[in-house]
Amino acid sequence: MISRRAIRTFLALSSSLALAATAYASIPGLAVEKYVLPNGLEVILHENHRVALVTVSVRYRVRATPQPPDLTGLGHVIEHVLLASHRAHVSDLDRDALVNSVGGGGDGGTTADGVYYWSTVPSPYLAQVLWLESDFMAFAQPSEKNFQVERSVVFNEHRLRVENARYGVADHAVWGALFPSPHPYRNTVIGLTSDIERSTLQDVLFVYKKYYHPANAAIVIDGDFVPEHARQLVERYFGTLPSGSRVEMPATPAQPPARAQEIILPLQVTAARVSSAWAVPPIYGPGDAEGELLAMVLGDGKSGILYRRLVRELRVASEASCFYYGAMLGSHLRCDVVLASGSSIENVRSAADSVFQEMSERGPNAADLQRAQSRWEAQMLHTLEIGSTRAILINKYNQLAGRADFLAMDFQSHQNASVESVKKLAHDYIGLDQRVSIIVQPMKH
Ligand SMILES: [Zn+2]
Repeated sequence: MISRRAIRTFLALSSSLALAATAYASIPGLAVEKYVLPNGLEVILHENHRVALVTVSVRYRVRATPQPPDLTGLGHVIEHVLLASHRAHVSDLDRDALVNSVGGGGDGGTTADGVYYWSTVPSPYLAQVLWLESDFMAFAQPSEKNFQVERSVVFNEHRLRVENARYGVADHAVWGALFPSPHPYRNTVIGLTSDIERSTLQDVLFVYKKYYHPANAAIVIDGDFVPEHARQLVERYFGTLPSGSRVEMPATPAQPPARAQEIILPLQVTAARVSSAWAVPPIYGPGDAEGELLAMVLGDGKSGILYRRLVRELRVASEASCFYYGAMLGSHLRCDVVLASGSSIENVRSAADSVFQEMSERGPNAADLQRAQSRWEAQMLHTLEIGSTRAILINKYNQLAGRADFLAMDFQSHQNASVESVKKLAHDYIGLDQRVSIIVQPMKH
């Protein structure tokens, strides 16, 4: 997810700690109502009256690399360009002013499989936000100037996140090694500068027409509203929009790479870093919870096994953490270990590999797994406390799990994960012979 504007402070007010996280707490359900308009727009309503705010989030079924036209990063460029464009009935400035003047806020985000937009406003302004989103869906008018300006904003973002970020180039390279071309995940969401350079306003207009329409979108209304009123407003603002054709996305998971690969990258860094990455099962299917929990067991902050073993006990590393990215065509798990001064790549690698092998042979110990499960639940409960993140999650479930009310099942699968099932995932997917290694070496001056 890539965000442009800060969330307004009032959103923090809704994030009270009324729900304390405990492992194996009762499973929260989401009482959602879902229906489909004749033009294909999926509508999902979720009431929550704790605070007098309402969030509207629209998610479009378009990848960060829309295929066609198959340019990496284009989905994200388009998110920027559309947010900056005039619509037929309101200018971009008026749109922001309308939302901000009532104390609201909003933003957009691009992910591997979908692009979403959201606005949160005090509940009396639901109609205005729905009107704005309908104008956005059907009547955006991106200009060559919008395109040029926003593309240069994206180039800056690229410099910040990739070229100038510590190890950014290595993080970027992982995707291409795990999901080789022509896979749509062959690059990070922000894409390749050469593809962004090649993109044109025509590409933006093409994608907008093909992907941004009711039949390829879902709208979530979450928070303090009256369902009957919301249904009438949705009908009024979206019911007459012309339908397009829903774009079918291929659902076949990518095969994990069959052989080990090693990439060595000299970068302007002070310490070498050894990363191990693996393709693991797709999001929300069998093995997703285990993959995510394994990443947490191994590398969730200072309680992760890699940190405990390599940083604290053996002192061969100064940092050790893991990362999990769940996606429709295949997720991935990556662990990064930064060398302590005086340590060698061989030392770090053999220490890390013995931890990975331990996971495949014995699985995590029960206490580590339970700690990861509790952390996962706490993070989810926090997400559910805030209207905007809750609406975004419901819409993500709707697209990627095929059910807007998938929350209970997501909780269930994380609670059901066992030492045995995590061990099996580790055994089947994170073998050393399936690994992509990325070694960053400090450049010699
Ligand atoms: Zn961005």
